Amino acid sequence: MTARILDGKSIALEIRKEIAAEVAELIAERGIHPCLAAVLVGEDPASQVYVRNKEIACEKAGIQSRLFRMSSGTTTGELLELLSQLNSDSRIHGILVQLPLPKQINEREVLDAVLPGKDVDAFAPENVGLISQGRPRYLPCTPHGVMQLLGRCGIETAGKEVVVVGRSDIVGKPLVSMFLQKSGPMGASNANATVTCCHSQSSDLANITRRADILIVAIGKPNFITAGMVRPGAVVIDVGINRLGDKIVGDVDFDAVSKVASAITPVPGGIGPLTIAMLLRNTLTAACDAK
Ligand code: NAP
Repeated sequence: MTARILDGKSIALEIRKEIAAEVAELIAERGIHPCLAAVLVGEDPASQVYVRNKEIACEKAGIQSRLFRMSSGTTTGELLELLSQLNSDSRIHGILVQLPLPKQINEREVLDAVLPGKDVDAFAPENVGLISQGRPRYLPCTPHGVMQLLGRCGIETAGKEVVVVGRSDIVGKPLVSMFLQKSGPMGASNANATVTCCHSQSSDLANITRRADILIVAIGKPNFITAGMVRPGAVVIDVGINRLGDKIVGDVDFDAVSKVASAITPVPGGIGPLTIAMLLRNTLTAACDAK
């Protein structure tokens, strides 16, 4: 079998076009210009690239973006002070604090300080709670990207066995929560799955992953999932982004697994572009909800 390639890049472009049209409508009809504030602390090269890509994507969708750079020696108090200003600035609709933060900063305290209405990453406890209750204000960007990709590729999740490998607050846990709901972002067929979540302490991982109709991997270990860990005909979504020499690879051994799976996302060009598209979606939602 040669797997169908799930082209996240072209789906992300399609979503970005839809968002650009809605942004233009919002500006024309209500005079509201959506604006995202990105906070970048320190000089981490990957973070600089991510933030730049988000700025470019905003610009192309007609969303304003403002970058707030802080030095690597910034304290938690200084960052909280900036967030307090951004929270009370009505011209700013969404706030993004680029992770990771330097070690001296209390990450939890900082993320908790973003006003839930401006928390376009959906990290705030209130927003996480709303997701788990099935009435989300914002959906977290990467998991939402996964759901959009599946929905737009016509892959139903209702009644399917979904296995998520990885239990981070950013990817694994919210995915589990979203797949469990009675209805997903693309309607009832885009949730309602039977979900299993694995992590580093799971025993006999391959036995669990081989049960999956839809296998989603977010662990940060290059080429970790081999063909033998995948049920023939499964759909495989690779969230991982790993640098291997001068190449970017996922958590799934793409060459081997694409001979077993029925559909698979490439890395790069899979979930990454969708994550940015869903950040734009949340910024637009925040602007629409602005008083
Ligand atoms: P993370 O916070 O480091 O979490 C990794 C998870 O993987 C943890 O739950 C860990 O288990 C689990 N894990 C590690 N080794 C394992 C093993 N051998 N077997 C089973 N589970 C294992 O990572 P993350 O932030 O979720 O990111 C995961 C990957 O996705 C990274 O490559 C990251 O770069 C990528 N990512 C991509 C996007 C995108 O836009 N495409 C967005 C976010 C992240 P424990 O909990 O037991 O430690």
